[in-house]
Amino acid sequence: MVETSFELKARDGRARTGVINTPRGEIRTPAFMPVGTAATVKGMLPGSVRDTGADILLGNTYHLMLRPSAERIARLGGLHRFMNWDRPILTDSGGFQVMSLAELRKLTEEGVTFRSHIDGSKHMLSPERSMEIQRLLGSDIVMCFDECPALPADKARIADSMRLSMRWAQRSRDAFGDRPGHMLFGIQQGGLEEDLRAESAEALQSIGFDGYAVGGLAVGEGQEAMFGCLDFAPEQLPHDKPRYLMGVGKPDDIVGAVKRGIDMMDCVLPSRSGRTGQAWTRRGQVNIKNARHADDPRPLDEHCTCPACRSYSRAYLHHVFRSGEMISGMLLTWHNLHYYQELMQGMRDAIARQSFAQFEADFHAQRQQGDIEPV
Ligand SMILES: [Zn+2]
Repeated sequence: MVETSFELKARDGRARTGVINTPRGEIRTPAFMPVGTAATVKGMLPGSVRDTGADILLGNTYHLMLRPSAERIARLGGLHRFMNWDRPILTDSGGFQVMSLAELRKLTEEGVTFRSHIDGSKHMLSPERSMEIQRLLGSDIVMCFDECPALPADKARIADSMRLSMRWAQRSRDAFGDRPGHMLFGIQQGGLEEDLRAESAEALQSIGFDGYAVGGLAVGEGQEAMFGCLDFAPEQLPHDKPRYLMGVGKPDDIVGAVKRGIDMMDCVLPSRSGRTGQAWTRRGQVNIKNARHADDPRPLDEHCTCPACRSYSRAYLHHVFRSGEMISGMLLTWHNLHYYQELMQGMRDAIARQSFAQFEADFHAQRQQGDIEPV
């Protein structure tokens, strides 16, 4: 069995590039993980997701435990085989989504009981149960079970919640056990408070994890507050382990996070916005439903090599969106994932060349130009 490891290859300021080695393949960092909530990246075949440049996908424990259930996926050979993706998968712990989606939640020291948002059935998640589910799924990178208060919250509430999450981190570590070839990540909490983040980082490091996530951000605090927290939070975590910013984000959030020392990110945005007619390009956001595209024979982005840009016009993408055709979401999702992965590759190259500052300046200058002039 190949062990897992994290190899830092270059730094430029606080930005880092490297590789996470796992038995299922390398994850080049900074890495963007497309989200495959219900064992699919919506509208994309796994081979197509790989073609965009993704090394790893994210799966959601909460959704999969409710439907089709972790036990069923295990009987069918695990999540990789079930969804036909043979590269690494990271699963979240279910904690965040229980808090945002489930009904009739009851939080105790033991864990959370709740009713499914799908059929009202009763379930329980605890550190031990979350570790069991993620093991049944066959996840390569397992996340600790944690609790995250909605912001804004008062400092005492954030501190209590963080300390509960640290006790759950120890229980997660104990329940995970020794599993060569698999990684367990701890999750730093503490809201926007520097001292609470430091206390959390220290608690996690004394337990010891294979990687560390910055949790509890991208929950509506805004980019300025998030960057303010990222100015200190990643630096409190070990330098020789991967750092993962959960649930981020827009392209400019991602560039700002990498600049501040983040190695991994995930977000539903490229796939979700693809289904609602929104495209992300080097020149910013394009709303394909806008009438200005109806007669435009040009591609979404003439420099992009994805199938949507190589083979179709803006006029076609506009037409299929307005007609409610399935191919609309498929093509725009493909383009968006391709754009995100190109952005990551651009940052990895720039950090390796020690030219991240120039990359960042060019990134913002291109976006400043806005979309191409209408025909
Ligand atoms: Zn494209």
